[in-house]
Amino acid sequence: MAQTVITYKCPNCSGGLEYLPGTDQLGCPFCESKFTEAELQGMKAHQQAEEDQHKQDEFNEHMLEYTCPSCGAEILADENTAADICPYCHNPVAAKGKLSGALRPDTVVPFKYDSKAAKEKFLESMSKKWFLPKDFLAPAHLEQIQGIYYPFWVADADTDCAIDGVATKVRTWRHGDTRYTETSKYSIYRKGDIHFEDLSTAALSEADKAMLEGILPFPATCHEEFSMKYLSGFVTKKRNLEKKAVQDEVKRRIYGYADQILKNTVHGYNNVTVLDRKVYIKHSNWEYCLMPIWILTYNTPKRRYTFAMNGYTGKTYGEMPIDWKKLIIVAGIVGVAVGLLAGFGLPLLGLLLGGAGL
Ligand SMILES: [Zn+2]
Ligand SMILES: [Zn+2]
Repeated sequence: MAQTVITYKCPNCSGGLEYLPGTDQLGCPFCESKFTEAELQGMKAHQQAEEDQHKQDEFNEHMLEYTCPSCGAEILADENTAADICPYCHNPVAAKGKLSGALRPDTVVPFKYDSKAAKEKFLESMSKKWFLPKDFLAPAHLEQIQGIYYPFWVADADTDCAIDGVATKVRTWRHGDTRYTETSKYSIYRKGDIHFEDLSTAALSEADKAMLEGILPFPATCHEEFSMKYLSGFVTKKRNLEKKAVQDEVKRRIYGYADQILKNTVHGYNNVTVLDRKVYIKHSNWEYCLMPIWILTYNTPKRRYTFAMNGYTGKTYGEMPIDWKKLIIVAGIVGVAVGLLAGFGLPLLGLLLGGAGL
């Protein structure tokens, strides 16, 4: 591919470099500098690393880190976003100061639903629920809803996969009074190049699992290149799992999917069992991505209830507190009603049901 000459620009003057015939060098026709391809690649990698570091520093410069002394939540927010109240336990949080480390995301899924839409969804999903505490649906509680970006590791991988296994075919027939069953076993082998895209894993080790499972997935096509503008007005949950910690889990998922995909190409048997599998990951690409979630929590002395909405798809997850006083009162009324019915007969039914419709 001799055309690759045009892809290199002179590091000194940005002129297009050309191969110098009879040498292994590229030369600049404008400033007469000469470079080998290895030198140029080294410079390019160096430049890229410098740019990444610069972006990282700039991100850290404009971000603040907060820790909640009450519940331990760790959140980040840009310097213009008020983040003085913990979005989980609603107590004041303390700023820990500027950020350090490589926490700048590569990509972000922007919020598509605003807080108004999230509040409406919340009210809608709670509308037919009985026995909720009075303040659960109150405007003051709804105001505590917060848009939070959750950290995810997202992997793409190019793989060579193969499975070895046994497939069985069963044939039965009757001859006279005898029933025959013939089981034939076949050795099967399948091999393929499989590309996996957008395998997302939360970069969090704690107990958000049920909530996240309730509102996933985020569609694969909605990742945007990260820019600070997306963070305005939202806080970010600080990640506590590095890429290394989720790599094995992602590999296990790839193995499982590979088995399934290759197995699905085997037709015409009663049963297929995979005995051996080989997956070679030729190339993988990882992104650190922030995903948008609306969170509204309700805290009682015993536990926290979380309502969550996927900020991109609108899918919701909700835990509901029960007001035991209301429940006991209703149970009491029903108890009394049953007692009265037993004493006075049916005409009271309508009256009592009307009265008990809390
Ligand atoms: Zn030049
Ligand atoms: Zn807190």
